[in-house]
Amino acid sequence: MVVVMKQGAQQKEIDKLVAQFQLQGLRVGITNGVDCTILGLVGDTSSLDMDKISMNQNIERVMRVSEPYKRANRKFHPEDTVVKAGSAHIGGGSFAVIAGPCSVESEAQIIEVARDVQTSGAALLRGGAFKPRTSPYSFQGMGVEGLDLLLEAKAATGMPIVTELMSPKHCQLFEDKVDVIQIGARNMQNFDLLKEVGKLSKPVLLKRGLSNSYEEWIMSAEYIMSEGNENIILCERGVRTFETYTRNTLDLSAIPAVKRMSHLPIVVDPSHAAGMYWMVEPLALAAVAAGADGLLIEVHNDPPHAKCDGQQSLTPEHFDRLMGKVTALVDLVGKTMVK
Ligand code: PEP
Ligand code: MN
Repeated sequence: MVVVMKQGAQQKEIDKLVAQFQLQGLRVGITNGVDCTILGLVGDTSSLDMDKISMNQNIERVMRVSEPYKRANRKFHPEDTVVKAGSAHIGGGSFAVIAGPCSVESEAQIIEVARDVQTSGAALLRGGAFKPRTSPYSFQGMGVEGLDLLLEAKAATGMPIVTELMSPKHCQLFEDKVDVIQIGARNMQNFDLLKEVGKLSKPVLLKRGLSNSYEEWIMSAEYIMSEGNENIILCERGVRTFETYTRNTLDLSAIPAVKRMSHLPIVVDPSHAAGMYWMVEPLALAAVAAGADGLLIEVHNDPPHAKCDGQQSLTPEHFDRLMGKVTALVDLVGKTMVK
């Protein structure tokens, strides 16, 4: 962090400030320029409050030169993190596909879809039991019963299950039953929820918020990591832009950018980005080409009658065709498809 003192700041005020920073465990490099003095703070500045510092009347400007995240930062952890979810590995060259319906609707539905997506090569099964819906009158998910049906599908196929956690009150339930805990876009900055999830042992799939920057997204991962849970998979699912044709705009730049910023694996959800089934395939292939570590794709056995997100769900047959192309492309980019 760099602190630029005001022109004419008294030496005794500068000394006071330097002593304060040193007390906080930082080394302070002092440059006396012609017009002003500049302090270079070296050490862990992640807990310093820039706004508070800049309130000092002798300070002109405060600038960060390093990122406010540490545990998620690639600078301090150059190797890719590989997240183990059940028997599947994601990251570090291992590519995994997570597939399944938006919501769990019945025993027959989830088991049928699980078997189909597994046959096509998906490594993990997704399905919402607790659904974050825009309208309180829309289907809210089957709740605990839905979780138990996911466990039945897991027993039938052996696939690890991924499902969304919305409330801290369900943390223990998810810790006991779920393989990967999804934090949805709408909860990416629910900091109390993030802190509670940070105390659990299960890997977390952290979706990017509807309008959040890369840094805000990684700071949310940092929240989880700061509580001890370092097994995080980031998920780009499209963001809000001026374009209304698609449900969201898939931000492919997030893949190389976030990979440079962080060591955490990143998967792409083309289903929620596009909001239309016919756009899922090209976006999925683009994500593989851009370096994603995996995909999250909604698949339904009867999309026209789905209780949620049918319009963006692939049929099992379409998913199977897509997986043929994804597998070839994963191989071409030098990654290994995990089953
Ligand atoms: C979902 O995965 O079904 C979901 C609700 O996703 P998002 O949080 O990205 O909207
Ligand atoms: Mn959905």
